[in-house]
Amino acid sequence: MKAFEHTNAKTLAEAKNALAGGKATIIAGGTDLIGTLKDSVLPTYPSALVNIKTVAPSLDYIKEEAGMLKIGATTRLADIAANPAINKKYTALSQAAIRVATPHVRDMGTIGGNIAQLHRCWYFRKPENRFDCIRKGGKACFAMTGDNRYHSIFGAVNGCIAVHPSDMAPALIALNATVVTTARKIEAENFFDVKVASNTALAPGEIITEIQVPAPPAGAKSAFIKFAIRKSIDFPIVNCAVMVGGGAPRIALNAVGPKPYRAVKAEAAIAGKPVNDANAEAAGAAAVADAKPLPATKYKVQIAKTLVKRALLATV
Ligand SMILES: Cc1cc2nc3c(=O)[nH]c(=O)nc-3n(C[C@H](O)[C@H](O)[C@H](O)COP(=O)(O)OP(=O)(O)OC[C@H]3O[C@@H](n4cnc5c(N)ncnc54)[C@H](O)[C@@H]3O)c2cc1C
Ligand code: SF4
Repeated sequence: MKAFEHTNAKTLAEAKNALAGGKATIIAGGTDLIGTLKDSVLPTYPSALVNIKTVAPSLDYIKEEAGMLKIGATTRLADIAANPAINKKYTALSQAAIRVATPHVRDMGTIGGNIAQLHRCWYFRKPENRFDCIRKGGKACFAMTGDNRYHSIFGAVNGCIAVHPSDMAPALIALNATVVTTARKIEAENFFDVKVASNTALAPGEIITEIQVPAPPAGAKSAFIKFAIRKSIDFPIVNCAVMVGGGAPRIALNAVGPKPYRAVKAEAAIAGKPVNDANAEAAGAAAVADAKPLPATKYKVQIAKTLVKRALLATV
């Protein structure tokens, strides 16, 4: 692995300065970034890494203020999973955090890094940049004609059919969260993007500082469910988060397309109705009404439909 200059930023201002010019990259827990660096996955590499876990005031906190849950960007997933207030009130977030990877990854990986992580398409991740695909600035999508069994069921975005792998993303969208950065506030739903070597709407040098989650309306309940091949150390084949009761329902899926998918037709199908077997089944069917699976990803449509149903029933 190439050697990188490493800066432990003492303040956010210092981190921003070090990132100016676009040659340096943020490192938080390093669980995603280090893999891409070690495997030489990308055609170009940063000259320096800027550690934001060292900034003061620290970005590692969980607090509730004025009806709002605030989670600092470098808060570890293990701490989110273990927080009793999150478990009780923002249940989908807690259930998503506990299903990420393994205890080791959750002890290192941060919420900011989780939502900014790169996708897992095996052509993209092949060591030594063997496949110079669209997401690396190349011209071809090798998955389109190759092995795409874990890829999108909702078509391509900007020529890419890789799926977004985060478990935290659909929970944040279902809970109506906002991502706060050094430059602005972005609704979680609009945070994800599909561009060359990035899965976010962040501009170069923009740092996620906090995740804000409004307290769910009185009577609302949320749930997260994930289908993966293994019980641990496994990315989702499909996952789903829902929030229902006490307001308009919110339902989000991930690993079904290049960005997390807000299932608005499923939300409309369950809105104003009791959550029971028949209504949850109908919402599941509505969630996949617009699916356009590839021949190898048809099986994911049934999984998505079933997860929506089960996540809704888990709130009752
Ligand atoms: C074996 C394994 C299994 C996994 N399984 C799952 C899984 O089941 N579900 C799941 O959701 N994830 C899974 N992951 C991904 C894991 O959750 C992420 O690697 C982790 O959350 C990333 O956090 P980090 O702090 O380590 O980020 P880093 O690796 O430090 O950074 C990741 C990216 O985010 C950027 N970044 C980090 N923090 C910020 C910030 N504050 N502002 C702007 N950009 C930032 C970095 O520049 C980098 O591009 C798995 C990872 C591994 C290695
Ligand atoms: S699916 Fe996306 S990441 Fe994978 S090969 Fe195609 S363009 Fe590249």
